[in-house]
Amino acid sequence: MVNITATLSTLITANHILHYHKVLDAMGHVSVRNPANNATFFIALQMAPAIVSGPEDIGEYLVADGSPVNGTVGGYAERYIHSEVLKKFPDVNSVVHSHSEDVLPYTILDADEVQVESTYHMTGFIGDSVPNFDIESVYNASDPRDMLVNTPYLGSELAKLFEVNGTQPTSPLHTVVLQRGHGFVTVGASVEQVVDYAYYATSNARVQTTALLLNGAAGGGGKVKYLTAQERRDCRNMNAWIAFKPWGQWVWEVERSGIYENSLGSPPEG
Ligand SMILES: [Zn+2]
Repeated sequence: MVNITATLSTLITANHILHYHKVLDAMGHVSVRNPANNATFFIALQMAPAIVSGPEDIGEYLVADGSPVNGTVGGYAERYIHSEVLKKFPDVNSVVHSHSEDVLPYTILDADEVQVESTYHMTGFIGDSVPNFDIESVYNASDPRDMLVNTPYLGSELAKLFEVNGTQPTSPLHTVVLQRGHGFVTVGASVEQVVDYAYYATSNARVQTTALLLNGAAGGGGKVKYLTAQERRDCRNMNAWIAFKPWGQWVWEVERSGIYENSLGSPPEG
């Protein structure tokens, strides 16, 4: 018997964790596939993450085209990021879209000059490369240039950049995709995992920026040493079994912060 209340409680608390750690500000969102029906997903309605506080704040949408179902009205204009990624990759069950200011500089730099790299052992999931979705390259002539991924077409173009994993075609090759002049998207097998990835993607950006600035202040020379390809793979595996620990602390923090409400109570332990 699938426990939808547990799923929604986890989703509500995930909104709070991502806000508490400044991965999401008033914008951005986190979604989860319906565990009782993989053709739909849940995501907050048109509201800021910190004030999502109960099931009445959550909408249900079709994976096929992002349209609302089961009484849901309206919702985030950018929910097609979520629907198209969930549609393309059956193994993905949760998606985060963030405008983190820590990551944004990497979306507007020339990739020949600076790319996101895995800087320390909690960020091996970043993998060998992080694609950058340039929405300008897929706009139709009459589209407004507001940078929003607000149609199924734009969502599908973004989802393509995750690329199919050659050895496991139901999974993406990449866990993170940047969006030029907008933010990033990360994907996971669960809410707990995607919150972990979103948190550490922003942490990684802060570490990389600091290292690059220190390197520049010291006269440069390209002496920043990132994780090797094998270190990234092995650290990703390590992170998968230890991720319960940060999640447990993040839940503990937001529940004691006194600024968030979750009427469904604590999420079950991951
Ligand atoms: Zn956005």
